Amino acid sequence: MDFAPSPRTLELRDELQAFVDERLAPAEPVYRQQVADSGDPHFHPPVMEDLKAEARRRGLWNLFHPDPEYGAGLTNLEYAPLCEMMGRHPLLGEATNCSAPDTGNMEILSRFGTPLQKEQFLRPLLDGEVRSCFAMTEPWVASSDATNLQSRIERDGDHYVVNGHKWWTSGAASARCKFAIFLGVSDPDAETYRRQSMILVPMDTPGVTVVRSLPVFGHDAGGGHCETLWENVRVPAEYLLGEEGGGFAIAQARLGPGRIHHCMRAIGMAEKALELMCARAQMRVAFGKHLADNAVVQQQVAESRIEIEQARLLTMKAAWLMDTVGNKGARFEISAIKVVAARLATTVIDRAIQVFGGAGVSDDWPLASMYPHARTLHFVDGPDEVHLQQIARRELRAYEPFRV
Ligand SMILES: Cc1cc2nc3c(=O)[nH]c(=O)nc-3n(C[C@H](O)[C@H](O)[C@H](O)COP(=O)(O)OP(=O)(O)OC[C@H]3O[C@@H](n4cnc5c(N)ncnc54)[C@H](O)[C@@H]3O)c2cc1C
Repeated sequence: MDFAPSPRTLELRDELQAFVDERLAPAEPVYRQQVADSGDPHFHPPVMEDLKAEARRRGLWNLFHPDPEYGAGLTNLEYAPLCEMMGRHPLLGEATNCSAPDTGNMEILSRFGTPLQKEQFLRPLLDGEVRSCFAMTEPWVASSDATNLQSRIERDGDHYVVNGHKWWTSGAASARCKFAIFLGVSDPDAETYRRQSMILVPMDTPGVTVVRSLPVFGHDAGGGHCETLWENVRVPAEYLLGEEGGGFAIAQARLGPGRIHHCMRAIGMAEKALELMCARAQMRVAFGKHLADNAVVQQQVAESRIEIEQARLLTMKAAWLMDTVGNKGARFEISAIKVVAARLATTVIDRAIQVFGGAGVSDDWPLASMYPHARTLHFVDGPDEVHLQQIARRELRAYEPFRV
C-alpha cells in the first residue's frame, strides 16, 4: 500500500488552499450576512455563485467524480486529502460542486442514467446550475433497513405513480433543489432485494410537498433536512433510474463513495477542532498556568492526534481498496472507517469544546456547529450498530465450526 499523495493531489491541494485563503475565507462572513439579511435560513446567497464561478475558473470543480468524462477523474486515494479540506471549510464543498447529496446523485446518474436522464438531470447538476435531493428515509419505519420502506412506485401506462411519506430529505427546502431521486417499492411480491426501484422526480411535479424543514439540534440551514409528501405524483416512465427492481442495488452503489466522503470530511473537522483546541490551550491561563501546561489537557491533545492519524490511515486503506478491488471488496473497511470517523469527530470536537469552556458552545467559534454534524454521522448512511454487526458477522464466520 502506498498512500503518498500523487503529484496531481499535491497540485490540487495547493490550489484549493490558495482558493480558500484568497477567496473563500474572506467570503465566509459575507455568506453569513447575506443569509441573515434575507431572513430565510435556506436562502442561497449570491456570494456562493461568485465563489463557484471562481472555483470553476481555477479548475477546482467536480473534484469528487472519479470519471474524467464528468469530473476530475481522481482515484479515491487522490481525492481523500482534498475532501478532508472540505471538512475544515464548510463552504468549500458547495463552492467546488462537491457537496452531498448531489455528489452521490451525480455518481449514480452518470453510472445508471440514460442519455435523456443525463441531459435533463445530470448535466445541470454537473454545471452547478441546480441542486438535488435523495428521498429514502421514512418516518414510520426503521429506514436503516431499506427492506422496510413502504413508499410506492407503480407503473400506469407510460408513467409511474409515486406515493410516499419521507423525511430527512436533505436539501429539499432550497428553491434551487429541482429534482429528487426517490426510492420506493415497485413490486412488493418480488424477491426481497428486487422490490425497490429508483425514480427521478422533478420537485415541481404536482403532488410533491415539502412539509417542513427539521432542525438538527435546533439548527436549520443550507437546503434544510425536510419532511416531504409524495401524493399521486405522475412522472414519465423514462425517468426510472436503471431497471425496475434495481433500486436496492443502485442504493448500495451510491453508499460506498458517499460513506468514505463523510469520513474524509470528518477527519478534516477533527483536525480543525484539534487546531483550535491547541491554540486555545496556549492562550488561556487558569489557576496560574496555561491550560496547555496541564497534564489532563496534554493527554486530550495527544489522544486526539493519535486518533486522527489512526482514522486517516484506515480511511486511506479503505480508499486504496476501493481503487484496487472495487467498492464491494472494500465494504468491511468502509464500514469500519464509517464507525471510526464518526467517533473521532464527536470525540475530538467534544474535547475541544471542553477546553474552550463556554466559548465552545457559542456561535463565535465553529465547534458548536461542527458537533451536530459529527453526531449525526453515527447513523446517517447506516447506523454504527449495523456496520459493527456486519464486521462482527464476517469475523465470526470463520469460527462457525466451533459452534456447539
Ligand atoms: C442531518 C441528517 C441528514 C439526512 N439526510 C438524508 C437524506 O438526504 N436522505 C435520506 O433518505 N435520509 C437522510 N437522513 C436519514 C438517515 O439516513 C437515517 O436517519 C438513517 O439511515 C437511520 O434511519 P432511521 O432514522 O429510520 O433509524 P432506524 O432505522 O429507526 O434506527 C434507529 C436506531 O436503531 C438502532 N439499530 C438499527 N439497526 C440495528 C441493528 N442491526 N443492531 C442494533 N441496533 C440497531 C441504531 O442505534 C439506530 O440509530 C438524514 C438524517 C439526518 C439526521
